[in-house]
Amino acid sequence: MQFSHSDKTESLIARVEGFMNDHVYTAEKEYHDYVETSDNRWTIPPIMEELKAKAKAEGLWNLFLADFEGYGAGLSNLEYAPLSETMGRSMIGSEVFNCSAPDTGNMEVLARYGTQAQRDTWLKPLLEGEIRSAFAMTEPAVASSDATNIQCTIDKQGDEYVINGRKWWISGASDPRCKIMIVMGKTDANAPRHTQQSQILVPTDTPGVKILRAMKVFGSDDAPHGHAEIEFDNVRVPASNIIGAPGEGFAIAQGRLGPGRIHHCMRLIGCAQRAIELMCDRVENRVAFGKKLSEQGSIREDIARSICDVEQARLLTLKAAARMDEVSYKNARDLIAMIKIVAPSMAQTVIDRAMQAHGAMGLSQDTFLAEAFAYARTVRLADGPDQVHMSSLGKQIIRRYAG
Ligand SMILES: Cc1cc2nc3c(=O)[nH]c(=O)nc-3n(C[C@H](O)[C@H](O)[C@H](O)COP(=O)(O)OP(=O)(O)OC[C@H]3O[C@@H](n4cnc5c(N)ncnc54)[C@H](O)[C@@H]3O)c2cc1C
Repeated sequence: MQFSHSDKTESLIARVEGFMNDHVYTAEKEYHDYVETSDNRWTIPPIMEELKAKAKAEGLWNLFLADFEGYGAGLSNLEYAPLSETMGRSMIGSEVFNCSAPDTGNMEVLARYGTQAQRDTWLKPLLEGEIRSAFAMTEPAVASSDATNIQCTIDKQGDEYVINGRKWWISGASDPRCKIMIVMGKTDANAPRHTQQSQILVPTDTPGVKILRAMKVFGSDDAPHGHAEIEFDNVRVPASNIIGAPGEGFAIAQGRLGPGRIHHCMRLIGCAQRAIELMCDRVENRVAFGKKLSEQGSIREDIARSICDVEQARLLTLKAAARMDEVSYKNARDLIAMIKIVAPSMAQTVIDRAMQAHGAMGLSQDTFLAEAFAYARTVRLADGPDQVHMSSLGKQIIRRYAG
């Protein structure tokens, strides 16, 4: 059992940390101010493209991707995990390094299952950071935590597929750079339950794709990334846009979730770690009732509990990443479920304590805490609600130990 990172990982952590300190934290205000004051909220602050160019020039680019035709950093899940934590410390961090969701999952799917033509058309510009993408599975009409419920239809008509359905909470679809969506729907409603679904590439400018509205999280539309409700009304794409074979959609969706969950959990651990650091600074420099807040026992207790919570979640997530590298996603399913149950709730609790210690400012736009809290709360639903993971983990554990 090894509790330290390799020299290669340590060196990359130092470089990503250096980049975050020199360029990213200081750009957060400019980024948000641009969106707030822009006539059109769905435009990209120029600072983002400037930072992406800098990170790319420094070779801090596509670090999430193991290897694809000369792209990617050749890192294992365990090696990438601490980098994901460092980038996750800022809500704009992951995108700067071309390592943000849902592009990372979409790129992995295209690298693994895409045809050469699909990779040339969509994967390469994604890897270059020229375009962005969305993943459209969830539907307002059905309980979408059970992916077999999905109703959207993908019907073969000649050499085309015709897509009809309504999706919501489609992150990133309103970003003007979002040029492609991976849409999940049913190609054969009569097939066995887990082979009814397929995934298909739909360019965002295809006739019949209508963005209906921006969903809000706690009252915020999360522009310019956002989460769109979208109607697919007789949307026609070439049959060659199907990913893998018809009926493989469910299996492909399962495959993308392993690394994606490690990334989300590590980003949240980064958020929680930064929240503790902000909390320490704030309470050391604020006096109430004659003494520093940092001298209050209850504040110290909150900080102590928080650092224990973060370290526990970090170790568990790194163990899940190592297990994924050693065996496979399938054989690491128990640990992946554990981190998905533990890390978002942990981050929500730790960030909540930090907000409380900051007083009213903690809920405002003047720290990253409110945004990070919303993110932690979101991930308790996205990529599978807590209860779905608990149900699956509980089942696995009962099977393992029942006589
Ligand atoms: C900010 C945000 C961004 C998102 N981005 C995307 C995206 O980009 N693409 C996309 O396709 N979707 C996205 N989603 C949607 C998300 O993946 C779904 O909300 C999630 O899968 C749950 O589906 P549902 O909302 O239909 O809840 P439902 O399936 O209706 O479930 C409701 C609740 O029922 C309970 N429940 C469900 N199953 C069980 C069980 N087995 N045991 C006990 N209780 C259970 C849980 O508490 C669950 O929260 C996003 C959501 C949010 C909030």
